[in-house]
Amino acid sequence: MRTMRVLIIGGGGREHALGWAIRRSAERSGRAVALFFAPGNAGTEAIGTNVPLSATDADGLAAWAKEAAIDLAVVGPEAPLMAGVADRFRARGLKVVGPERAAARLEGSKAFAKALMAATGVPTAEFRVVDDAAAARRAVAEFGFPVVLKADGLAQGKGVLIARDQAEAEAALAAFFVERRFGDAAARIVVERFLPGREVSVMGAVAGEAVVLFPPVRDYKRAYDGDAGPNTGGMGAILPPPDVTPEGLGRIEREVFRPILAGLKERGLEYRGILYAGLMLTPEGPKVLEFNVRFGDPETQALVVGAPLDWLALLSAVADGTLDPSDPALRRPAGAKAPQAAVAVVAAREGYPTESRPPIELPALDGDPPARLRKEGAPGDRAPLEEAPDELVLFHAGTFRRAGKLFAGSGRVFALVAGGASLSAARARAYDALRRLLPAESGLFYRTDIGEKEAAEMDVGEPGAKAPGDGAGPEAP
Ligand code: AMP
Repeated sequence: MRTMRVLIIGGGGREHALGWAIRRSAERSGRAVALFFAPGNAGTEAIGTNVPLSATDADGLAAWAKEAAIDLAVVGPEAPLMAGVADRFRARGLKVVGPERAAARLEGSKAFAKALMAATGVPTAEFRVVDDAAAARRAVAEFGFPVVLKADGLAQGKGVLIARDQAEAEAALAAFFVERRFGDAAARIVVERFLPGREVSVMGAVAGEAVVLFPPVRDYKRAYDGDAGPNTGGMGAILPPPDVTPEGLGRIEREVFRPILAGLKERGLEYRGILYAGLMLTPEGPKVLEFNVRFGDPETQALVVGAPLDWLALLSAVADGTLDPSDPALRRPAGAKAPQAAVAVVAAREGYPTESRPPIELPALDGDPPARLRKEGAPGDRAPLEEAPDELVLFHAGTFRRAGKLFAGSGRVFALVAGGASLSAARARAYDALRRLLPAESGLFYRTDIGEKEAAEMDVGEPGAKAPGDGAGPEAP
């Protein structure tokens, strides 16, 4: 049997998780894969080959992939898509999961995304696109407080400011237009009406107008417990969030994914990749906060553990343009034992996201920590891991190896992802493992409340029941 050669572009936890998921789905169905990562990290090295190319070197990557006879490429981060990696791969006849640059503007320009939503009737917050502080002030006066101000361009999740009063709005406008804290990304900004509710993320595989949605996830963007501290790339993720029903997910497909894909097609853009909708579940139904044109991180790390789909088949069908949403095999978990829930907890370097610190050695993560933890067993562990060996996984992010030793750079270092029969079980397993893995003075920190509220809600209600309190699920009339 021919070995399928898969290139994953990027070097974070998402890319390690995608490689792990592709390899596992191949193993389960007796296919052979060879994995390559560009540039990868110390974790991806253990399951494939790291290629020392930058993720945004579109020409270099396409030339290398052609030479290396890559059968399928998957682009992790947004920057390579904005740099035209998918365009370059397709121009050389290479199969790739990721939209071309013109469609990647759905993430790369908030003004473009908002205009397309308005044109296609996708529910989103009311907005004004403005180029200067005076016009921004008029929009702020129109919407009242709180109000949301967003840099138009990519700002690594940091270009969104919420102002509760005029003083905060002035400070935000100064950051955008005077201090130019976000550079050209905020030469133009979007002012939008604040939406109340709970947030949820829905990702789907897309080929043209064909779409297969994955189970919804919730991510945690703030650095510290209780949603305190600065916004980060993401400190954890869970699935399922208790407030999205199957009907709610159907509504999201009908009201968000279908019209936006139809709108792209009308504009001559054939989307082949992963589309991510960040949604607010408002009393009037789901509304789009943002689109991403790729897998979320850490959302994807929880997703691949909680939804053991045939990821290799899914991603191949996206790249081939043969995605068939009526094929039940694409929605069904591959393998007998599927966890019902998953919790990903990110461990980051102290100082993240504001400071970068020099690398430190990480002996605790060397080897295969989950295997080690399984062997030791946990006193009082409610669900023996031996029964479900894939339910505790460690995905590397900012790690590298030097002279045989493992180091952490700055930023997010790794995520511990646990699956389980319930959110509570998955949480208990993830946190127990983290406590045993990391010594007190590790130089890393993690949030201790990932999935805490949701686990408590699930324990009282049925899974998928409406969240108590806001009644704001997408199924609300
Ligand atoms: P975005 O990058 O557009 O998803 O915005 C980042 C975060 O800002 C979101 O995850 C929300 O928590 C918050 N946010 C963005 N837009 C709004 C809005 N219109 N109303 C309330 N919160 C918002």
